[in-house]
Amino acid sequence: MEKPKRESLIRELKDYLIHLKDVGYTEIPCEAELLANATTQASLPPNEMTKNKSLTAVQKELGDCTRCKLSETRKNIVFGSGNPKADLVFVGEGPGADEDEQGLPFIGRAGKKLTEIIEKGMGLNREKDTYICNIVKCRPPGNRDPEAEEIEACNPFLIQQLQAIKPKVIVALGKPASSTLLGRSVPITKERGTWHEYAGIKLMLTLHPSYLIRFYTLENRKAVHEDMKKVLKELKK
Ligand code: SF4
Repeated sequence: MEKPKRESLIRELKDYLIHLKDVGYTEIPCEAELLANATTQASLPPNEMTKNKSLTAVQKELGDCTRCKLSETRKNIVFGSGNPKADLVFVGEGPGADEDEQGLPFIGRAGKKLTEIIEKGMGLNREKDTYICNIVKCRPPGNRDPEAEEIEACNPFLIQQLQAIKPKVIVALGKPASSTLLGRSVPITKERGTWHEYAGIKLMLTLHPSYLIRFYTLENRKAVHEDMKKVLKELKK
């Protein structure tokens, strides 16, 4: 293998391992491969966003969901929050402890960072200008990554949420959200800042706020800033 490619792979692997540690793993999860495979199956989006139901109807259908084992350990379902008609939707991976406690997405440390990015960085109002949700609506115990079958069980509701909102731009926060929306394993540090499409909607990949907190380097801050600049430009079109 040529040297620059090998170095980039080693850097990505190192980043991933540190991220796993950061979100609570003490050993390497054997589900990682399963996740990569299953997100491919789970995340096939519709060809285009045909508006079917309102967000309220989607939430009603989700109900007191027990479609996967995360229902056994969650306190609250974290459906999503923000403007149901927002042009911009952020999709993260799953609720953490604070979110599980209050039933709201991105309200802990990572949430504060995301609010800062939206409000100070982009000059938008989090509640009025955006909608925020996750690929799974219940907290994975110990903040582990969601497993393949959990993502698969929850994915129809994510698709319906996005169909109901029909935003102009979706931003995937971090690797699990990017991989789920694109249906393949995404090396996020390599692909962040690139445009993709999800059911006819522009999709930007960027770093997860918790990763940004963990690696609060000038390079990472600049990277997210650049990604959000691209999003703003697209929104103004
Ligand atoms: S994660 Fe999704 S599918 Fe699983 S129990 Fe929660 S709402 Fe239902």
